[in-house]
Amino acid sequence: MEVRKTVRIPVHYRTTKSKIDRLDRLTARLTYCISLINGLVTANTKLDRPTLRKLVKESDVVEKAKLSSGFVDQCIDKVLWAWKSYRALHKEWEYRYNRALDRLESARDDEEKMRAETGLRKLEKKEPRTPRFEEKTSCRLDCRTGTIQRGENTFRLWMHVSTLVKGETMDVPMNPSYYHLKQLEGAMISDFEIIRKNGRYYAHVSTTRFVDDRITSSYGGVDQGLNRTLAIVLLPPTGDGVPREELMYDEKRNLLDKYDAIIASLQQAGKTRKLKQLRGKRNNVSVYRDWLLANKAAEYTAGYTIAIGNTRFRQAQYRGNGMPALRKRIGKWSYGRQRIFIAHKRAERGLSTMLVDERNTSNTCRCGSRLVARKYLDGASWLLCHSCGSKLDADLNAAYNIALRCRDDRLKVRMNAAENRTSA
Ligand SMILES: [Zn+2]
Repeated sequence: MEVRKTVRIPVHYRTTKSKIDRLDRLTARLTYCISLINGLVTANTKLDRPTLRKLVKESDVVEKAKLSSGFVDQCIDKVLWAWKSYRALHKEWEYRYNRALDRLESARDDEEKMRAETGLRKLEKKEPRTPRFEEKTSCRLDCRTGTIQRGENTFRLWMHVSTLVKGETMDVPMNPSYYHLKQLEGAMISDFEIIRKNGRYYAHVSTTRFVDDRITSSYGGVDQGLNRTLAIVLLPPTGDGVPREELMYDEKRNLLDKYDAIIASLQQAGKTRKLKQLRGKRNNVSVYRDWLLANKAAEYTAGYTIAIGNTRFRQAQYRGNGMPALRKRIGKWSYGRQRIFIAHKRAERGLSTMLVDERNTSNTCRCGSRLVARKYLDGASWLLCHSCGSKLDADLNAAYNIALRCRDDRLKVRMNAAENRTSA
């Protein structure tokens, strides 16, 4: 299994001014080149390297940007990537727009018509824009123009990069933490980007690590919740036995509430300086907590193939549904990030994680019946089944259903694979 990770390492604070100046000039020129190439691309341009290279060759980009062919190629890749993701986004938007048009046409009464029109107007405002590079933009630099190298003296890591002067390179000292160095150990460095943030330079190094796949034959499911962060159910390895269940809490919520209160009072008092200092801090706390929890979850589920319920719940909480308090809480929750972190921590252990559709997992009883009622009691949500009469913890029950889905999906894949092998 391939595990990819980006490590963000700051440039050393003792870097000389002349080197920083050269970095300034290099990154500015790269941005200029990217915006020049971007100007060559139109809605109908075929998006592949040969086409863009030809366009660049026929234009005056190289002349204007005065960059080596390696840098120009890397700028082309950046523009390609930006346009590809723009087109993918736009395609999805078009699909939604056409569906909204259909809804407008098939509206049966005034109310439906009004609602469809509002939806259409909202979508119009959200049309994805073509890529624009108005601010400083970076591109991925690979061995043609730069490398990240280890050092033995005071500076443990160096960024070796070509400059704007032909044939001249420079070495910029980095300031890696122990964590950074550990992340780089035994990993392959494919490329890096030079990013300027808050007046400082960083190298965003993309690393690839190969981890041996772990063979697992047991299944589990994870349900992400609002009150309890994670509900985990692990099915017994052999058909019989009792599933293992675990609820993982996170004190992040309280911590973040505290930060929010401080920020709110500072905003009221108009203390911009203090607010600036706090900026980012709240997010750092949140990300750090998510990593901790992901690690805990990965440890608990080691040896199991697990699935996490994939939901569009957060997106589905549209404005004006009369639940502002709930929406506010969900808005601050990081479901997507948490899923990615868990998958990542498991990948580092050679374990794969699936995403399954979690539709109906929260309202189906273990007996298979969907004749259920939900009840909120003692800080937990309960599921009362009308068919078999059982009273189940709603979060754990959802995780159990996700685990079943995970097992069924996996078995289906295995059966198909076996069929293919016998027929081949
Ligand atoms: Zn039941």
